[in-house]
Amino acid sequence: MMDSPQKISVTFSSVLKEAADTLSSNHIEQARLEAELLLAHVLGLRKEDLIIHPDRELTDPQEEKFQQLIERRCVKEPLAYIVGHREFWSLKFNVNPKVLIPRPETEGVIERLLNLAGDETDEKAIRILDVGTGSGILAIVSALEFPKSRVTAVDNSGDALEIARENALENRVADRIEFLKMDLMRDWTLPKNDLYDYILSNPPYIPSRELEQLMPDVRDYEPRVALDGGPDGLVCYRCIVANAFPYLKTGGHLIFEVGDDQAGPVEQILQAHGGWDEIEIVQDLSGRDRVVSARRALG
Ligand code: GLN
Repeated sequence: MMDSPQKISVTFSSVLKEAADTLSSNHIEQARLEAELLLAHVLGLRKEDLIIHPDRELTDPQEEKFQQLIERRCVKEPLAYIVGHREFWSLKFNVNPKVLIPRPETEGVIERLLNLAGDETDEKAIRILDVGTGSGILAIVSALEFPKSRVTAVDNSGDALEIARENALENRVADRIEFLKMDLMRDWTLPKNDLYDYILSNPPYIPSRELEQLMPDVRDYEPRVALDGGPDGLVCYRCIVANAFPYLKTGGHLIFEVGDDQAGPVEQILQAHGGWDEIEIVQDLSGRDRVVSARRALG
């Protein structure tokens, strides 16, 4: 690499070490990893390339850009918003502050869907509805896992739908996903001509009064509308349980992600509504109840 002779050497390894120390003293847990991801982002390289070439040097503009990003991370701006993407189900999804950042726990919704659908996913021409699609992860992964499916993805935010569409295009499933801007908390006027086999949702579920206690990364940067589940955190579940019912085929399933300690209350909401059976609760990797599914009863 060409470099001006008077410049003090700024190698990958030296800036990484310094940035990792800075992040760490600002209470960023995976400081070294995050420093690597941010540097790789600035340089347009893979993280591995940084390790293979520790003695390569940054140009001044690269270094300046990198320092700016480290500063943003130090004030807890989420890494995913800084780099503009996050991995989910081993795929890349674009994100921005208008959408919730995909969480690994949400993969449990897809696992439950695969589990309920059984074998021969390639052949199943099922219909799926994703309520509150955000970045589109549930709709898009479902469309990929079931190549003959058709998916409807609804959100009340036009900005979110824009990102979701972009993600669907990049993951090559845009032709099988219909995106609708609709506030399903107020009005369920989806076309009723074909009913769904599965309705999925990871709705906002944090009780309003707990929003202020969330980690600053979440509280100060992620969209409130994607987090706020009303006074008891269960407002969206009540609404979806009641309204989704007529849109499901008999024997079709509703699959929810739920917040900590919400599986029991959500099960009660389903039972109080009636018409649901095979209510099941599934744990995430840390052993917490994370997914609730229920079948529209056959009888
Ligand atoms: N469905 C999206 C996700 O699972 C968005 C969820 C939300 O905004 N509450 O990440």
